Amino acid sequence: MNLQPYTAHALMDITARPPTVFVKGEGSWLWDQSGKRYLDFVQGWAVNCLGHSPPAVADAVSRQARQLITPSPAYYNAIAIELAAKLTKLSGLDRVFFTNCGAEANEGAIKLARKYGALHRNGAYEIITFEGAFHGRTLATMSASGKKAFELLFEPKVPGFPKAQLNDMASVRRCIGPKTVAIMLEPIQGEAGVLATSDQFLRDLRSLTEECGLLLMLDEIQTGIGRTGKMFHYEHVGITPDILTLGKGLGGGVPLAALLATEAASCFAHGDQGGTFNGNPLMCAAGIAVLDEVSQPEFLSGVTQKGEELTASIAKLAKRYGLGEVRGRGLLQALALDKPLAAEVAANAFEAGLLLNAPRPDTLRFMPSLTLTQSEIKQMVAILDDVMADMRGGS
Ligand code: PLP
Repeated sequence: MNLQPYTAHALMDITARPPTVFVKGEGSWLWDQSGKRYLDFVQGWAVNCLGHSPPAVADAVSRQARQLITPSPAYYNAIAIELAAKLTKLSGLDRVFFTNCGAEANEGAIKLARKYGALHRNGAYEIITFEGAFHGRTLATMSASGKKAFELLFEPKVPGFPKAQLNDMASVRRCIGPKTVAIMLEPIQGEAGVLATSDQFLRDLRSLTEECGLLLMLDEIQTGIGRTGKMFHYEHVGITPDILTLGKGLGGGVPLAALLATEAASCFAHGDQGGTFNGNPLMCAAGIAVLDEVSQPEFLSGVTQKGEELTASIAKLAKRYGLGEVRGRGLLQALALDKPLAAEVAANAFEAGLLLNAPRPDTLRFMPSLTLTQSEIKQMVAILDDVMADMRGGS
């Protein structure tokens, strides 16, 4: 049964959505109201790292809901303390502030860097960010983003985010001035179409920020929590940032994100930061369940292995249809098409029972559950193959 237009009318119309209502999810699969099953390679936008409704998260949340949902952030709760301790141990950073979404974590990170500039760098407040970046949808994080479509929206923007080009150190150096306090970036620009920073670029940024006394801020909201085969992408590179933001996979599907900082960068004073729901035990219980699974070495090596299988399978398809490159790391990957037909491919795939994302007119993105199986990779490729064959036949 499709959604009748009047039933969704009470929702603000903020994006184009297919007239389908999802009612159930399990692992890599979603079911709509009519009982039709879909293989999900979107997974809540790279959120459901353990798949839909994973038992570990469902159990942790229902157990915690009966115990304590929220005592207010004005008081300690044992679950937030436990999750913060796990995150600091895994990340090598020292302090955590929990938030409800990635944009809020980045907004907090921007405030923290500005506070650091006020205290230690003569009032410096500029944060160098990158063309193509996506850091969220609050006004400051939209201003920090380098997304073309944001350029003319909600003017005037928050000032203080000069833009450099990815993998171009000279462009970064050109942006540095007396007001610079930090450099902020995603190790892989997911929303821009899975565009990776080179490992060397990240190392060079780490050296440059140390040399100039600037903070290095990594937005690992999409790349963190095992997505690229390491707990955090920066582990591939052998660096540690001063400020780190996490979200998406951290809650395994529930709204949980975090801002982490080294002791030296952690300079909020009482009253600088807060929020009603921040660090509530209900969401933090989900975070603990996620970390307990994802941080296992065999889980992470499984992500790497499945990532290689996914790359090889997509590359075969790309060869068959004369498409472009396959790029990404672990289970965050993209396929460049030869024509700007990505939205049409994604729409046809949806009809055929496969959820895929088209972040750019000529790019498909794959961000499945980290728990997906080899057989699900094969099923995805088989559906996409049929879709491509139909489109070629019809063109
Ligand atoms: N930063 C990055 C790299 C993201 O990919 C996203 C979301 O796609 C965000 C920030 C914003 O996170 P949220 O949508 O949870 O606010």
